[in-house]
Formats: sequence, C-alpha cells, structure tokens
Amino acid sequence: MTIPFGTLYIVATPIGHLNDISVRALETLKSVDHIAVEDTRHSAPLLKQFGIHKPLKAIHDHNERHSVDWFIKELSAGKSIALISDAGTPLIADPGYHIVSALQSLGFRISPIPGACALIAALSASGLATDHFCFEGFLAAKTSARFTQLTARSHEPYTMVFYEAPHRIVETLDAMQQVFGLERIVCIARELTKTFETIKTGPLSAIIPWLNADSNQQRGEFVIVVAGAPAPDKHDLSLDEQRLLTLLRRKIPLKAASQLAAEYTGKSKNTFYDFGITHDE
Ligand code: SAM
Repeated sequence: MTIPFGTLYIVATPIGHLNDISVRALETLKSVDHIAVEDTRHSAPLLKQFGIHKPLKAIHDHNERHSVDWFIKELSAGKSIALISDAGTPLIADPGYHIVSALQSLGFRISPIPGACALIAALSASGLATDHFCFEGFLAAKTSARFTQLTARSHEPYTMVFYEAPHRIVETLDAMQQVFGLERIVCIARELTKTFETIKTGPLSAIIPWLNADSNQQRGEFVIVVAGAPAPDKHDLSLDEQRLLTLLRRKIPLKAASQLAAEYTGKSKNTFYDFGITHDE
C-alpha cells in the first residue's frame, strides 16, 4: 500500500486583529502534522492563543531554498504541512516562493487558505481604482535606487500599491511628490485592523503636510496606494502645436489655420479650432 502524498496549505493569518483568522485557517492549522513559520518566536504565541500545539519548522529568506528537501520528505511520507508567515498571506512580501515553486513543479498538492492581506485591505478601502493595479512591494532602501524605481513608474496608468516601513514613510512620500507631482492622489493605509487604523486619501500636496504635522501618524505599519498617471488629454496641444497654430493665425483665419495644423500634425481640426477660440488674443 502506498501512502498518498500530503498537502501543503498556504494559510493566511491576521495582519492585526486576531478575529480575522478564518474558521478554515484554524481547522487547517489544527489538522496538519507540521506548521512552517517565518519566525517561531513570533508565531508561537499566536498559535498558543488559538490552542494550536504543533511541531514548528522555521522557514526564512536565508534557509528557504535549503528547506525544500524537508518539505519533499515530509509530504512524500504523507504528512501535511501548513505554511504561515508573521502576518497576512504567505509569499506576499514574505518567504515561501521558492518552496511553493519547487513543490508545484514536482506535482505536490498545494492548497491556499485565503485571508488577510494588507495590500488588498488597503486597496479595497482606498477609494482608488481597483480594476487594474500593480503590487510594487517595498521600494529600495537607498534614496537613488528608490528614485530610479519611482521614475520608471511615473507613467504607470494603473493604481500602484507599495509597502513601506515607518522610518521611511516621510522620505518616500517626498520622493513620490518629486516624481509623480503634488497633484497625484495617494492613500495612506496605516495600522489596518488595529486600534490606530488610519486611512487617508488625497493629493500629495495635502497628505504630506498632514503626515508631517503629526508624528503619531508616522508610526506603525503602512501601505501606500498611489493613483495611476492620468491619461494624456487627447484634446491638449503641445507647446509646439500651439506655436504652429499661433504662427498660422497671423496669416490666415482660424478655420483655415486649424485645417492646416491638423493636416500637418495628424491631430483633429476641432482640437486646434477649440484651442484657437478659447485662446484668442
Ligand atoms: N504578508 C503580508 C500581507 O499579506 O500583507 C505582508 C508582509 S510584509 C513583510 C509587511 C508589510 O506589510 C508592512 O511593512 C506593511 O507595509 C504591510 N502591512 C502588514 N500589516 C499591515 C497593517 N496592519 N497595516 C498596514 N500595513 C500593513
């Protein structure tokens, strides 16, 4: 008789409020043979609180690749394992990718037990567009690298979600203001599901002074949700196009000038005409 392979469960845990653990997460954690955790000191009290006493296996960034063999051995022996991280959904800015990727490719059964995730919680309450978004994780710690990363995203049309540490929140918003401009709308989602939960959305011109005015608002855990770049207005004329229309207008009437400028640039005649009407000298 062959023992069927065990399952690896990817179990989300709370990001603050303990009641956010799901019934299924508790059932799973109570049923598995092992729980793989990011940090035993962090997870042991949480598990104890829920009455869960299972052998723990520490998995962190430094030993993740080397621990794949342990997962293969245990799952092949028919044992089931739950993977949890310090908070929220494992693998989301947390360890686990190398393990899941390796086990997937070997055909092991991997089953998610979904639950709290800071980026989804922040996005859902931000008031910013949710139909398309990019999760950017943490920006680089070095100032110049952070500017390079933000500059590469300055024309990103979709909502962007960043994680940020409290000691860098002011600096990061300042960098965003320099790259995205003061009018760009952002949402600061701080201490989600906890006592001092704060969610504030507005242009960087308002958010930065608000954050600077109260050092309490600079503490805790942060998600920054940033609105995508506004689509370029197809009715706008570049400076060169405006200059072309002005030059033509000195010689011929607006209607003819608009026609010629449209033929030259490929933009619509009406765009030039409307601009001419509203900017008549
Ligand atoms: N796996 C987690 C998840 O599902 O969101 C994320 C882990 S990552 C190492 C930790 C970062 O997530 C924090 O630095 C912060 O940016 C964000 N975060 C976690 N909990 C949060 C909370 N309660 N409120 C706001 N941000 C939070």
